[in-house]
Amino acid sequence: MKRKLFLLSVMSLCMATAIWAQERPRPRGRSFNFARQFHDRDSLERDGFKLLFYSNAPAFDPDIKAAMFDTFFKVYPELVARFNPEAAKVVVFMVDTTYDGIAATFGGIVRYNPQWFVKNPKDIDVVTHEVMHIVQSYGRNQVPGWVTEGIADYVRHKYGLHNPEAGWSLTPLRPDHKYTNSYRITARFFVWLENTKDPEIVTKLNRAASEDRFTDSIWEDLTGKSIDDLWQEYVKSADTN
Ligand SMILES: [Zn+2]
Repeated sequence: MKRKLFLLSVMSLCMATAIWAQERPRPRGRSFNFARQFHDRDSLERDGFKLLFYSNAPAFDPDIKAAMFDTFFKVYPELVARFNPEAAKVVVFMVDTTYDGIAATFGGIVRYNPQWFVKNPKDIDVVTHEVMHIVQSYGRNQVPGWVTEGIADYVRHKYGLHNPEAGWSLTPLRPDHKYTNSYRITARFFVWLENTKDPEIVTKLNRAASEDRFTDSIWEDLTGKSIDDLWQEYVKSADTN
């Protein structure tokens, strides 16, 4: 789930290179044997977006694969339109038995652990969270990780197609929470900010992050309050509800 935090092994780099290489004519005299490692290679193009799908899992559930495609083509164009029209139009999904996290995104490539879907076959909106990282592509700047992950889970909450059946929802606020907890805890705070401060606040946070304008003062710039004051107000409002 953590963007860019998985270590890119030499092998995954080679595999990624091979994927792109396979989209082009192969140079004479050189062979790319990586394709043998894949049990499934597929692609679909629709409305200006293309998804390349590779799996080295011997028996990845076709229903889950179909739901991943469906979710990508329904959600990703909406996210691109709202948050970053310049985002990649070609995306790669790699279902990778050698990856032991849940999912991770680097550039336009998302790796998925097939075992996660064996155990959690309804958790299709992992796709929604991960493809938001492609849309974000904040690059090397000072955006805190909790903001990046909070926005990705905000997006999963707003745009996800299968959250209820996966049993996925925003974490109810508890006294020991802090906005830096990231993921669903931060996402719930962003929903509150959207409802009480500015309906466009997540769009604005994302835009500032994309344009290297994200600083500690952004909260005051957008709401007139510091992040700590906003959190206190959020906690208080929950107390009174
Ligand atoms: Zn993430």
